[in-house]
Amino acid sequence: MRFGGQERTAPLSFSTKVPGPMHQLAATDVLPLTCTREGTCCHGHQIWINPWELARLAEAAGLTREDFRARHTDCQGTRLLFNGPAGWRGRPACSLYDPSKGCTAHAGRPLTCRMYPLGRARREGAVIYYHAGDRLPCYDLCPSVVNHPSMTVGDYVAGQDVTAGAIATDAYANLVYGMIGVVKSLCDHGPQAGVEVTAIHQSFEELAEMTPETRTTLLPQEWVDLLTLLPDELVQQAPADTVRLHGERINAMVQNQMNQTGASLTDVAHLYLAMAFHLNATIGGDPEAMRGLLKPAA
Ligand code: SF4
Ligand code: SF4
Repeated sequence: MRFGGQERTAPLSFSTKVPGPMHQLAATDVLPLTCTREGTCCHGHQIWINPWELARLAEAAGLTREDFRARHTDCQGTRLLFNGPAGWRGRPACSLYDPSKGCTAHAGRPLTCRMYPLGRARREGAVIYYHAGDRLPCYDLCPSVVNHPSMTVGDYVAGQDVTAGAIATDAYANLVYGMIGVVKSLCDHGPQAGVEVTAIHQSFEELAEMTPETRTTLLPQEWVDLLTLLPDELVQQAPADTVRLHGERINAMVQNQMNQTGASLTDVAHLYLAMAFHLNATIGGDPEAMRGLLKPAA
């Protein structure tokens, strides 16, 4: 059995997760979006990074991808490490934050940081922008923001150089969808192919219940490395090509594993599930959207 080769596009319902209550914005909304540069939001946050972002951050920090993962991330290279000196409200700074310089990897900062205090999500096939809560967080985090120029949401996003990061994030969403598509296809061919469908669905429920931190402990190291550390020849590509080639490499390794170990199709489905959940966390994806993808056709 072969995997991959077919480009998949995330369905309309596949959207990145909006954390808690959110306020959707129009491009014409005017808000105080000129940053006060107090570094407030570089303290006490949780920022997940996808493999393309890790590579970009490592380059900006002048480190190898392996060294960057070891020094600046936890959760197996999927979350930025916040272990710097305590700052705003006593909360620890991002390990890349320098109080005198700001972000030390500014050129490679991830999409979440570029967008903040706004967020970006895909809903019903369209990109939406929002901020968490009822009010722009900066009003409370940096009250002096009201003394700085306001601008439209559209102008703010245009000035943050988000295109490459957005392409990479959306491409990883498609890759996650493709992985779940493989699992669904294995389940659909179910019993006649010896696939333990019930066990796979149970595995999905267990993964969905776990914290993202726990999920990152499930895969053997070689698979984590494959998912996390892009090789040089992939990093040199345009973001969409990087992610497509990354997906092909993952599929090739699964194929290799099957050939070498005789892994069952059920094992393969479990592996793809674990990899899909692992990558989904790195793009802020909603596990519930994956549940919808796995549902048997009515
Ligand atoms: S909270 Fe807002 S104003 Fe304050 S540092 Fe962050 S983006 Fe800038
Ligand atoms: S990566 Fe840079 S901008 Fe983002 S939280 Fe860390 S120091 Fe702040």
